[in-house]
Amino acid sequence: MPTTIDFSEIRLHWVQVPLHEPFKISNGEVSIKDAILVEMRSSDGCSGWGEASPMGGSFYSSETPETTWDFLVRKAIPALLATPVPAPEECFEWLSEFPGEPFAKAGVEGAVWDFWANRKAAPLYRMLGGRARPVPSGAAIGLMPTAGDLLARVETFLKDGYRRIKIKIMPGHDVELVRAIRGRFGDIPLMVDANAAYCMDDAAVFEELDAYGLIMIEQPLGRKELEEHAELQRRLRTPVCLDESAEDLEAINHIIRLGSAKIINIKVQRMGGLAPAKQAHDQARAAGIPCWAGTMPELGVASAQALHLATLDNFTFPTDVEASSRWFKDDIIVPPIEIDGDGFICLPEGPGTGWQVDKEKVARYRIRCEEFKA
Ligand code: MG
Repeated sequence: MPTTIDFSEIRLHWVQVPLHEPFKISNGEVSIKDAILVEMRSSDGCSGWGEASPMGGSFYSSETPETTWDFLVRKAIPALLATPVPAPEECFEWLSEFPGEPFAKAGVEGAVWDFWANRKAAPLYRMLGGRARPVPSGAAIGLMPTAGDLLARVETFLKDGYRRIKIKIMPGHDVELVRAIRGRFGDIPLMVDANAAYCMDDAAVFEELDAYGLIMIEQPLGRKELEEHAELQRRLRTPVCLDESAEDLEAINHIIRLGSAKIINIKVQRMGGLAPAKQAHDQARAAGIPCWAGTMPELGVASAQALHLATLDNFTFPTDVEASSRWFKDDIIVPPIEIDGDGFICLPEGPGTGWQVDKEKVARYRIRCEEFKA
C-alpha cells in the first residue's frame, strides 16, 4: 500500500449548475452555482474527487471561481505534480506554503481524501473518525419578498421533514418574521442567521428575539467583532452561533477564549479542507462547544464529504446540507442527496463517500476543463 497519493493525472472541471431560485443573503445574490471539481486518477483506475466551491461574485467571500481556478492552475496543481502528495491528514499543512485560498485547498484536499478512501476501500467517515449514522438536515430559507412567501416556504420544508428551519434576517426584516412563524407554526425548531448584518447598537433586536425560544442566533454582528459577540451573548439566553467569524483555527480559539459564542458553524470550504474542519470540531469539543456542519451551499461532491464529516460526535445540531433538489436544478452525483421523511440524510454504503460522480453531467455543465499529467 503506497503511503503517498499515487495519482498519475489531475483534471479540473469548472461547472455551472442553475439554481431553482437565487441564493440571497443580506449583501448579495447569485442564480448559478459555480464549482471547480478536482479529479485525481491513477493509472490502475483509482480516483478521487474534490470540489472547490466559491460563490460567484465577491459578496460572499474574497475568493471567486475565477481566483480559485487561477490558484489551482498556477500554484496548487503544479505543487501536486512536483512532489509526492502526503496522506490526507497532512495535506492541509503541506499546502500551507501558500497563504489563504481555503476553497481551492478544500477542493484539492477533498480529492486526496476521496482518493485515499477509495484506495483503502473504506468509507470516508471512518477515515475521519466519525461513525455510521444518518445526519439530521435543516432547511435554510433566504430573504423572501414578503412574509407570506416566507410562511409558505416554511410550510413546504416542514412537510418535507427538515429537522429545523433557519431563516435569514436583516435590519428591518427580523422580529416580525420570527413572530409570524411562531404565530403560524408554534414551537418548531427555528433559528435565524443575520450574516453579520447588525451592530451592537441593534442589541435590542436580539433582546427582543430572545423571547422566541430560537435554537440559536447565527452571526448577528461583524466577522471581526468577537468581543462584541461575547458582550451580546452575555445579555442573551439564546445561544449565539458564529459562522463568518469562525474563519480559521486561530479565530475559533479566540471565540472560545472570549466566550463569543455557545455554538460554532464549521464549514469545510472556509476551513480549507476536511482535516482542518475536523481539528476545529475537536477544538470546540474540548471547550464544550457543540457544532454543526454548514455549507455555502455546495454541489454534491463537497456536500457528500461534509456529510461524512458531520457524523463526528460533536456535530450535534442539524447540518445545512439539504437535498440536492433544494437549490440545484440538477446535481453532479448519483444518487442525488435526499432527505428521508424524518429529515435525515442517510450515507450510501461503499468506499469513499458512497456517492458517485456522474461524468455525463459534469460534461454537460462544464464551462472549462484542464488536464495535467504527473
Ligand atoms: Mg451563516
